[in-house]
Amino acid sequence: MQIINTKQELVKQMAACVRQGKTIGFVPTMGALHAGHASLVKQACAENEVCVVSVFVNPTQFNNKEDLLKYPRNLTKDAELLADLGVHFVFAPTPEEMYSPDEMEQEFSFDFAGLDQVMEGKMRPGHFNGVAQIVSKLFYAIEPTRSYFGEKDFQQVAIIRDMVKQLNIPVEIIACPIIREESGLARSSRNELLSAEERKKAALISQVLSKSVNFAKEMSVEEVKNWVNDQFKSDDTFKMDYYDIVDGNSLQSVSSWDESDYIVGCIAIYCGKIRLIDNIHY
Ligand code: AMP
Repeated sequence: MQIINTKQELVKQMAACVRQGKTIGFVPTMGALHAGHASLVKQACAENEVCVVSVFVNPTQFNNKEDLLKYPRNLTKDAELLADLGVHFVFAPTPEEMYSPDEMEQEFSFDFAGLDQVMEGKMRPGHFNGVAQIVSKLFYAIEPTRSYFGEKDFQQVAIIRDMVKQLNIPVEIIACPIIREESGLARSSRNELLSAEERKKAALISQVLSKSVNFAKEMSVEEVKNWVNDQFKSDDTFKMDYYDIVDGNSLQSVSSWDESDYIVGCIAIYCGKIRLIDNIHY
């Protein structure tokens, strides 16, 4: 496995693979890798001749400086895991390698026609512009055949699909299922920042979502939303950011179950100081 730190070297290595007609599977990550990332990487390795993983905590997608500073980083451990999984190239640049000083400062602007105005996009202004900015740069440098994204970041998958359509980038976007801890908690690099007590309590999030699917038949959308919200009210550890029930394609809220045959419930909730997200298909 080769660890690459510069864009120039990345472009050189990837162009060589493209010249040889090799298929390239690419998994973008921010590191602090866990079994969720590993599942994407395994699929990328299995379906392509060359597997590339980027490890880069992208500053332009953080609208909260403190979150950026405390984001867990451990490249040595990540590289060991990726080598074990059979990855060929790891791209781990510095922010300066990816962005000119202007790009770091300027408001970068994609038009996602409303996809970025709800849920994560609404709560974290500029977040998806930053995501699209870095992922498009990586796609141009790597020219992957396929790129793998986790459904845990449900809205992100929709944004990336829209971005490649807008920019006409010939890459297949593959959405992979959510990998969970034994308790049901969706795996996340941020779980490491929870105290032992909070991590135990955070299992409630997936439990509530799973249960809510059973109620969906008897309750209205509004009632299910209220029920989900109520389940977290008795414990001060939790602070709901949003729970929305949306059409899985447009990401717009639905008001009745027969509005779409692809309905997803998306949650963002603070557990202590840590903001966690999860989702469930109805
Ligand atoms: P991140 O490092 O958090 O930016 O995540 C990199 C990729 O891994 C994204 O496509 C995430 O959606 C995906 N991912 C993160 N956690 C999980 C999980 N628990 N299950 C599946 N995919 C995940």
